[in-house]
Amino acid sequence: MTDRPDLKILLVEDASFFARIMCGELEKAGFKNVELARNFAEAKTFLETTPTRPFLALVDLTLPDAPNGEVVDLTIEAGLPTIVFSGRFDETTRGTILGKGIVDYILKDSPASLSYLGDLVKRVEKNARTRVLIADGSAAHRTVLKERLERYRLNVTTTSTSDETLKMLDRNEDIQMLILGHTLPDRDGFETLTRIRKRRGLHNLAVIGIAEGPCPELTAKYLKSGANDFMTKSCTPEELILRVSQNLDNIEHIRRLTELANRDPMTGLFNRRYLHENIEKMHDELIQNGEPIRYAMIDIDRFKQINDHFGHATGDLLIKAVANRIIDLLPEGGVAVRIGGDEFCVALPSIDAQTARFFLSELRSSLPVTVPGMDNEVLTSTISVGLSAGREATLSDGLRTADRCLYEAKESGRNRIIAA
Ligand code: GH3
Ligand code: MG
Repeated sequence: MTDRPDLKILLVEDASFFARIMCGELEKAGFKNVELARNFAEAKTFLETTPTRPFLALVDLTLPDAPNGEVVDLTIEAGLPTIVFSGRFDETTRGTILGKGIVDYILKDSPASLSYLGDLVKRVEKNARTRVLIADGSAAHRTVLKERLERYRLNVTTTSTSDETLKMLDRNEDIQMLILGHTLPDRDGFETLTRIRKRRGLHNLAVIGIAEGPCPELTAKYLKSGANDFMTKSCTPEELILRVSQNLDNIEHIRRLTELANRDPMTGLFNRRYLHENIEKMHDELIQNGEPIRYAMIDIDRFKQINDHFGHATGDLLIKAVANRIIDLLPEGGVAVRIGGDEFCVALPSIDAQTARFFLSELRSSLPVTVPGMDNEVLTSTISVGLSAGREATLSDGLRTADRCLYEAKESGRNRIIAA
């Protein structure tokens, strides 16, 4: 991430000591590509001459050649999201600066402010890949919110009715957050939210309810209907962005944890838990619609001998190599799972028998593998495979058939594929 030229940050700061501290904080947050301008003139020259635009500007409010925040106008006019820092902000300065359309301001007063800077920059960088939907009956309100969120580089779409909102969310699974107004012409916010939650869970889409004025009943009702948070339309730009950022951070953390819980750390393939929790539903839907779903059980032959002869670490390398082969050859739509030890399962939804067999025979004939770190010694490894028929009523039936075929493959001499 850090070497990408498009992730350049422009830092305008005249005090070398503070510039060094800021660069250190940015580096800790993963941003090494910082262009330092020591005054207004240097910043101006940089913006006029540099071929790669920074994605963000961090500017000191008072510079020797620009004592009244002129640098903020410079970077905002250049179209750069701008974070301002200063030794002190009185209420008037704060109001003026926020009115210019900056991302946020930071006081140079404490280590906590600086660590906030790292988090803020990370959030702004991620926002360019984050989609937010604003659904509200008022065109004026949609415009204000959109403009505020776009300052943070968020990708913002708007809708004005409940139906339009439901359709938009169905068609765009990449939308991570919805800011939902209370009054939509065709359905109120609560009813809209109840419908949304049937399709997308609390950890899949963050929803912030929004209404005219402070009203405790509305807040509670929104939260009970499945909102992650609530705010009023009169909230300050700072509150808006803090809530949006916190809610986006939360669902990202949960996604990361879910991903970890579903993956086998050694191979990166899905794990058994994922197979049972996520493929079962897919299986039932496909069978009901008359579509096949096949399962291939794949087990390395005489794997214990490899462990015994070459050691456990080499055994691990072989498991990883077989997993990589599976990934490389996997037909589109296939899901690869490490069941445990040297055993894998591949689910092949809506994939015909011929394609499934072709994939498996390619996989079998791509072995043995060369394991790195062993002077490229070739391990005499083969696999046995059992393939289900694809029309079994349940996931368990499909897995049982594939297991039975795998057992037959082992019994009849290994290094072969047996299909039901
Ligand atoms: P078969 O041809 O009948 O499958 O014989 P096999 O020796 O491969 O027998 P089996 O599949 O039962 O052996 C699995 C072995 O895998 C047993 C276990 O010690 C080893 N094992 C399980 N997990 C790991 C692991 O993460 N790494 C390594 N290196 N070995 C593992
Ligand atoms: Mg084995």
